[in-house]
Amino acid sequence: MSWDNRIKIVNNLSKIDVNILGQGSALYVRVTREESIKQGLSIPNQRNRGLEVAANRGWKWVKVYVEPKHVSAELWIDKRTALAELINDLKTGKIKRVFARHQDRFWRSSEVRDKLLQILRTHEIEFWDFDSLKDYRTASGKFALKVQADACEYEKDITSERIREMKRGKAMSGRPAGGPPPYGYTCQARVKREFMQKEGFNEEEAYRKACEVIPNKKEWFINLSEAEVLLLIISTYLSKHPSLVVSSQCLPKFRPEIQKRISHIFQNSKVPMGSHRIAEMLNIQDYRNINGHPWNGSKVLSIINNPTAFGYVTYDEVSYEKKQPANLPRRNSKFFRAIHEPIIHPELWQEVQAVKNRNTANLRTKSRTGRTYPLSKLIFCGKCHSSMRAMSQGLKRPFAYYVCKKRSYYGADIKNNPRACDFPRINARYAEESIWKNLLSLAQFPSDALASLEKIKAQRRKQRPLLKEAYEQIKKEQMVLRGLVQKYYSRFETSRDSAEEDLAWQKLIELKTWQNELNDKEQELKQELSKKWMRQPEKIINYQLEKFKALVGKIKNRRLLYQALNEKYRFRVVAHERYLIEPRIEIDLLQRKRALELPELTRKIADETHLIKLSKRIDIQPADRKPIKAWIQEEQGKHVCVCGCGHFIQIGPQHRTKGIPRYKFGHHTFPLMQKMRRYNEKGLYTISQISKMLGIGHSTIRRCLGRLFLEPTMTVFRNKIKLFTEEQIKIMKLAWLGGKLKKDKPEIFEN
Ligand SMILES: [Zn+2]
Ligand SMILES: [Zn+2]
Repeated sequence: MSWDNRIKIVNNLSKIDVNILGQGSALYVRVTREESIKQGLSIPNQRNRGLEVAANRGWKWVKVYVEPKHVSAELWIDKRTALAELINDLKTGKIKRVFARHQDRFWRSSEVRDKLLQILRTHEIEFWDFDSLKDYRTASGKFALKVQADACEYEKDITSERIREMKRGKAMSGRPAGGPPPYGYTCQARVKREFMQKEGFNEEEAYRKACEVIPNKKEWFINLSEAEVLLLIISTYLSKHPSLVVSSQCLPKFRPEIQKRISHIFQNSKVPMGSHRIAEMLNIQDYRNINGHPWNGSKVLSIINNPTAFGYVTYDEVSYEKKQPANLPRRNSKFFRAIHEPIIHPELWQEVQAVKNRNTANLRTKSRTGRTYPLSKLIFCGKCHSSMRAMSQGLKRPFAYYVCKKRSYYGADIKNNPRACDFPRINARYAEESIWKNLLSLAQFPSDALASLEKIKAQRRKQRPLLKEAYEQIKKEQMVLRGLVQKYYSRFETSRDSAEEDLAWQKLIELKTWQNELNDKEQELKQELSKKWMRQPEKIINYQLEKFKALVGKIKNRRLLYQALNEKYRFRVVAHERYLIEPRIEIDLLQRKRALELPELTRKIADETHLIKLSKRIDIQPADRKPIKAWIQEEQGKHVCVCGCGHFIQIGPQHRTKGIPRYKFGHHTFPLMQKMRRYNEKGLYTISQISKMLGIGHSTIRRCLGRLFLEPTMTVFRNKIKLFTEEQIKIMKLAWLGGKLKKDKPEIFEN
């Protein structure tokens, strides 16, 4: 039987008949991406079935709430718009009950469940699924809901875990974990699609053809036209002939004329090239990227960054350890040898990455003004601790300084702006020079560090027996727990009625969480116990200091050196006052040991206790720097104006850093000024000159032109400068004094 004439569907709550106002039902519909594929869960299905159920139960009217996007039921109303609307409508009191296909439409975690049930309780709303009324007020009803929700949560966790395991397993055996094939490769589905689009085959025909070309459904195969481009990109990037770059499996696939073409293009281009130049070259050769568009630098770089063409598949082991979804870029994940054929020789991957690291970041240090600022991003404000940026001033940028980012953005007015910072600007030249001179003096043996190391050593010696004891205790508890879990599990298996089963299930969940907590603790303690304290910290410190000195001696470019120091020793500079700065380095005592055994990412997270911090305060004010007044006195009367007038130049305090000007103020022979002077000699004056003569604002003069005043005699300089004769100026003066302007003014000014 159809539901459509037995039940009313309402969209706007304010239009409901008063008699049936409190009789409403709210149907909630939600799907996730995976669920929508399964049968019976699509939005129309849920909606129709829900309306049918409502009609059969004789409910008066229904409002349907459909989540517009695929959302998970773990999220709360800020991400679920339909649920938010529903909760809003509940507050009006017009709705008597909410219902959905199953309670898992509303929640899949205990947190969301508790929040939502609390709302239902306060408004006294009934809660139904398609089968029956659910009781959430009595103890047993609550318990049943809880167990079901826990089961939902468990199912969700298990599924995501299973998918993770599946993907990892695939990566380890070298197979792709799903998704479309990367650039350079193709698969059966893609070949089939191309047959349908280009040849106009129907689906069955295209499938048959595709099976002939690629028999295995899930594997990736080399796409020759894309492989050609890939080969060109890598060989020009490495400046190696394509025949040395291509893998032995891929080479025989290219026809001789294609091999010749690739080699020809390579020899005609000026290698090596960066990603942007490669993109340009490809576009000139009429190659197009995977979407049929011209190449650009970042697309080329993404090819260079993708290890697939080198015959690897990757898996993000770091996130796997943390039980999180993968988020590392491919090039930083763990590599596995793939079963698909490589296009590029696998051993070249390291070489390509080395070229990339050499090309990027470090070399782009020149600013537009031609100055480099070796300390930018490394120097920090001593007041607000934000980093300082480099700036320069003046015509030829003679005065460069580092300024606190907050000051540069919010200004120095700390009284009116709480975010401002009034830390003074640091003279870049002084700071850079004095740090360059004092770098090596940083590497002095820190005697106080040894004392604190001894302290930590003693502390650990004391702690160790306690830690061991705690570890043994946990081991014992774990054993007891295992027995308990076994017991309740068998009780759950053999239970005869559902109440007994529920109880056992509940107990099992409790025990499991307890067990997990204990496992975490055990791991922690185990790690702590396995840490070994180094035998001779003095030796390691000395070794590291020698390495530091060697590095300082090796790199001559300041910017590159500071960056290398920052990477290895966390080099940074703190500015304390205008002329007092403090360079700092940190030496990680575990660095050498860690480098051997840990993956790169974890190595960077250094243990605080193993850090030796070295720093030195430097006064950067040059000793021979005079007070500004003495300097002005000395320079006064030494500099003559270049224009030939014979006057001396007035020296100001700003001239020390910005340089002394060549002309006296107003004497500069700008071409336009000379032109104007010639017009003045002929008796022609500009508006700003007239404004000074008559004491009228120049915008007033402009406004009154053609009304109170006459039009200009002539206009020069692209019609921008208006010129008037002396005769005209006299008439203007008379007109102004005659007060004819008053007629133009509005009446309120009359008296
Ligand atoms: Zn600051
Ligand atoms: Zn002069």
